Amino acid sequence: MSNCAIVGINWGDEGKGRMVDLLTEGFDVVIRYQGGGNAGHTVVNEYGKFALHLLPSGIFRKGVVNILGNGVALDPENLWTEISTVAEKGVKITPGNLMISDRASLLLPWHRELDALEEARLGDKKYGSTKQGIAPFYSDKYQKKTVLAGELYYPGHLMEHLRELLEWKNLTLTGVYGAKPFTMNDLRKWLSDYCEKIRPYICDTGSYLKKAAAEGKNILFEAQLGALRDLDYGIYPYTTSSNTVASYAPVGSGIPSAKIDRVVGVVKAYSTCVGEGPFTCEWFGIEAQQLRDAGFEYGAKTGRPRRVGPIDLVATRYGVETQGATDIALTKLDVLSYMDKIPVCTHYIVDGRQTDEFPFPAVLGDAKPVFEYLDGWGTDISGIRTWEELPDAARAYVLFIEERIGAHIKYVSVGPERDSIIIR
Ligand code: GDP
Repeated sequence: MSNCAIVGINWGDEGKGRMVDLLTEGFDVVIRYQGGGNAGHTVVNEYGKFALHLLPSGIFRKGVVNILGNGVALDPENLWTEISTVAEKGVKITPGNLMISDRASLLLPWHRELDALEEARLGDKKYGSTKQGIAPFYSDKYQKKTVLAGELYYPGHLMEHLRELLEWKNLTLTGVYGAKPFTMNDLRKWLSDYCEKIRPYICDTGSYLKKAAAEGKNILFEAQLGALRDLDYGIYPYTTSSNTVASYAPVGSGIPSAKIDRVVGVVKAYSTCVGEGPFTCEWFGIEAQQLRDAGFEYGAKTGRPRRVGPIDLVATRYGVETQGATDIALTKLDVLSYMDKIPVCTHYIVDGRQTDEFPFPAVLGDAKPVFEYLDGWGTDISGIRTWEELPDAARAYVLFIEERIGAHIKYVSVGPERDSIIIR
């Protein structure tokens, strides 16, 4: 048995979906262990191009069992829409290849609304939420005010529980925000439109995983977002509301005693970030637009233009250490082919001093980047499949990053397709 986690090293959108899609070949089980429908993994394969939000990226591989673990924000509406969209393209999704943990908490209809109400209240101090209800969901989970997916199997108990939650949540909706209250009829409709549809997939995934581990099956843990968005280790409060770090994978997956043998950290060859918060290497104007267009940096979920800039090795090294990455996948190297000189942020200036330590969130906004400039390679590299064929300057760029972040770059991705990869 060999367990591997594929995680983001930066702000998310590093290309994890593409790496999971590639690496699932050697795995029996793929588990999403945190987050919800607030981000998207883009996968391009023989079925087409998909923006997955909740479904594990192993869903396209025959023989792979995909699990939504107890740590995810299980949104029945989003999930059912996603299952239907992916199945329409000819991908088989059955309770045999998709299992939902009975211990996953349900994102309830009011969570999305509360998210939007709170962002509106914050005005220009907003966190940049995708308004998918993730923050209200996790707050309620930790307050023990959500419903476990397995409760869908106990209708009497479920209705009683929902009634209590409804009464409590309407106090906030009407009293704090002056919004319309929810009714039991709203909840009944939600149950029949979405929850009934996903119920067949809900099971005791913990006992399935125990057996799978005993049989020596290989498990892949798939994260959403990146280290800098981790609730505890990221750029709080501009983080997500869950733990994106690899060390949370066993807890959020339903196999809490699992050991992770390999952590593949995914790093983009430049920086991108969606939403608010400090982003030290940010580019603006034409420079930014050129990079954004070259990398097609628009949110998979929201279509929002992503903030972009050169690679940030201070943040990346912090991400590598936080994730405990054993191997790095560097993605989108092909996107940089248009640049003559490629800036690389090696240090920050914080309080007048140069440092390569990632600062505490409260001072991050004042950090200024220090750049070195490496030679560009001036040629399209998207057709290259071996390390030796890469232009010298492209290899030098990869090696420079490798040396500064202190982790081996095993994969270099030069295109979105499954085979556009160089393995070192
Ligand atoms: P994720 O959330 O980490 O999976 O990342 P996203 O799906 O948001 O962003 C990755 C985007 O880049 C997707 O559109 C991928 O198809 C695309 N992509 C991934 N790797 C490469 C690459 O090496 N080169 C290019 N040009 N595109 C890539």
